[in-house]
Amino acid sequence: MAPIEIKTGQQIRWMREAGLVVAQIHKALREAAQPGVSLKDLDAVSEKTIRECGAHSNFLGYYGFPATACISVNETVVHGIPDNTVLKAGDLVSFDCGAYVLREGKQWHGDAAFTMIVGGEGSAEAERLNRVTEEAMWAALASLVNGKRISAIGEAVEEVVAANATDQWEAGIIEEYTGHGIGTAMHQPPEILNYRARGITPKLKRGMVLAVEPMLVDGSIETEVMDDDWTVKTVDRSLAAHWEHTVALTDGGIWVLTAPDGGEAGLAPYGITPSPA
Ligand code: MG
Ligand code: MG
Repeated sequence: MAPIEIKTGQQIRWMREAGLVVAQIHKALREAAQPGVSLKDLDAVSEKTIRECGAHSNFLGYYGFPATACISVNETVVHGIPDNTVLKAGDLVSFDCGAYVLREGKQWHGDAAFTMIVGGEGSAEAERLNRVTEEAMWAALASLVNGKRISAIGEAVEEVVAANATDQWEAGIIEEYTGHGIGTAMHQPPEILNYRARGITPKLKRGMVLAVEPMLVDGSIETEVMDDDWTVKTVDRSLAAHWEHTVALTDGGIWVLTAPDGGEAGLAPYGITPSPA
């Protein structure tokens, strides 16, 4: 396997620039994602935001992907192609967004996802799944501060899922799609499983930058890829949620590059303060 790219402080600060572009895309999409708006219109919002920030899309054309964001509605887990589908109040929608900036001849990438309920109010199932998935992401990010190996992430996700389980319900953790290293390319080693990994995973080291992205479902974790070769749905058509941030391991701890506040609010419950590079 290719070595894990270790970044300098300057390189992490360039990745922060890309991360803030992704944060801008998220903000614009959260505002624009209203009932009656089509997914194509939302991709146009993403494209415009990237352009206005002077950045570049890392999704458009990636293995032929036809848009600047993946938009995944309800039973779609990831990789939804923005099409003429129109959002309805109560839809559970995941936005996976990315951008890169060019600095000294290299691309520096950001990648982050969030899930929301269109119109603000959804089913109790949708709200629960979204809340648990977001919590799993923050717990996974927080685990990097004292964790020794990449496997800390999957362990943290499993712990949040178990803590939120009831006699009748437990969120399913998608296994076929994973988090990843990120830097001069969007997807780099290491692969990051969202469940307890068997075997030895790489040691966490200062200068690593990781995309931490749990994907949870309301039912069975079995998925299938649709005829467009991209859209991934749950086989049982149960709901899915997806949260992701790009995070740097810095001298003093971690810095969430795709969160405008560096992760301050999300990490506060864990007693962690972000440490910028
Ligand atoms: Mg992503
Ligand atoms: Mg990713």
